[in-house]
Amino acid sequence: MRDKNFLIENNAKPIWHPMAHPAEMRAQPPRIIMKGDGVHVTDIDGRRVIDAVGGLWNVNLGYSCDPIKRAIADQLDALPYYSGFRGTSTGPSIELAYELTEWFKPEGMVRAFLTSGGSDSVETALRLARQYWKIKGQSDRTKFLALKKGYHGTHFGGASVNGNANFRRNYEPLLPGVFHIPAPWTYRNPFNETDPAKLAQLCASAMEDEIAFQGADTIAAFIMEPVLGAGGVIVPPDSFMTLVREICDRHGILMIADEVVTGFGRTGAWSGSGLWDVKPDMMTIAKAITSGYFPLGATMIGDKVAEAFEADSTGFGSIGHGYTYSGHPVGCAAGIAALAETKRLRLDENAAARGKELATALEGLKSKHVLVGDVRCKGLMAAIELVADRDSKKVIDKKLIARIADATYESGVMIRVSGNNIILSPPLILLAADVATIVQGIDAGLSAAT
Ligand code: PMP
Repeated sequence: MRDKNFLIENNAKPIWHPMAHPAEMRAQPPRIIMKGDGVHVTDIDGRRVIDAVGGLWNVNLGYSCDPIKRAIADQLDALPYYSGFRGTSTGPSIELAYELTEWFKPEGMVRAFLTSGGSDSVETALRLARQYWKIKGQSDRTKFLALKKGYHGTHFGGASVNGNANFRRNYEPLLPGVFHIPAPWTYRNPFNETDPAKLAQLCASAMEDEIAFQGADTIAAFIMEPVLGAGGVIVPPDSFMTLVREICDRHGILMIADEVVTGFGRTGAWSGSGLWDVKPDMMTIAKAITSGYFPLGATMIGDKVAEAFEADSTGFGSIGHGYTYSGHPVGCAAGIAALAETKRLRLDENAAARGKELATALEGLKSKHVLVGDVRCKGLMAAIELVADRDSKKVIDKKLIARIADATYESGVMIRVSGNNIILSPPLILLAADVATIVQGIDAGLSAAT
């Protein structure tokens, strides 16, 4: 690797960064992260901070997980790559698919289609949903329903079901036949409803209305995150996902749970669907599947969908879809090791326990800082929503939130800013003392910047 000066000199120049304006990045180059250990990362200037972002919601096991590193090294020695397209397979892909179907058995998943990440997994689920209805002889069922504020990656299908204008406008026209219903978000919703149970009913009614308007027999699937992540950690009311499952069942609509963030313990349960006790028809997973050590994802397929494909005699059942890196053996080896560690360490229980401590501490920040309009937390995913004024809920200035993030970093804590939210998704191996360090750092950041 070239030296430090080369990296600083070329920072944000030959590279375009995701989710950023190239010119803004050049003007204000990003931090260069050089090392990770446990729940900490160290930047190019040697500053070591606690990573309250967990990479990007994914490094659940932290940066020093030897079993994953060993599994990757061993698999690289044995076989760095072979294709999983028809005719060949590899040991790690078979084993990982087996482990995943065991893992998501309570959610009713029986098959795994391996991908290279979350966007791939969403694309796969949407395509399989359409194909399912062709097999069933209902080829009019092509439309998708999704939640406003939902995030489902950046392929054209995923961007089409995304419920945030920032990820859509510049890429329109997107997939036709996608319709959004209001997110069950108590802090901001078009009904001005703050009671969670009532809000869940109102959003469910809006979904019913949309289905009636479109015609149920034109809708292939509904997709939602069990806890909305990138949209600002929106935790649906307890009843919401069950209501949605009932509506989907009544109208024969497939339900896809996008568990790219919520899978593998993040919410304090092994899956977000499990958290709400709902069985979707398909699940999309990625991120923590390898704890971020290798790009990998999967679309999990429930028994109803699997049976339709496997019993197909219509000729529509062959899967004309897949990625060169579907079932990459090194990624799968990383996945097998990551899942074993995740289970051994009962990261679901740790996320639940640390998440309660985090929620309490964040409420403390809210009492102290008027800028904090709302805090939302489920397990170890949290958002601190910053507002200029609590009554009007006017969002704070972009520059101010950037200053808060910088000051928090100076206090030793890496946080992520998304819109007017501070997003937290630390590694799930977090200790109680780490929770305190994170919240103290944010407290100091808020005080210093305001
Ligand atoms: N779905 C959800 C819920 C996500 O949060 C993300 C990524 N943040 C994706 C899909 C896309 O995943 P990837 O970035 O790995 O393509």
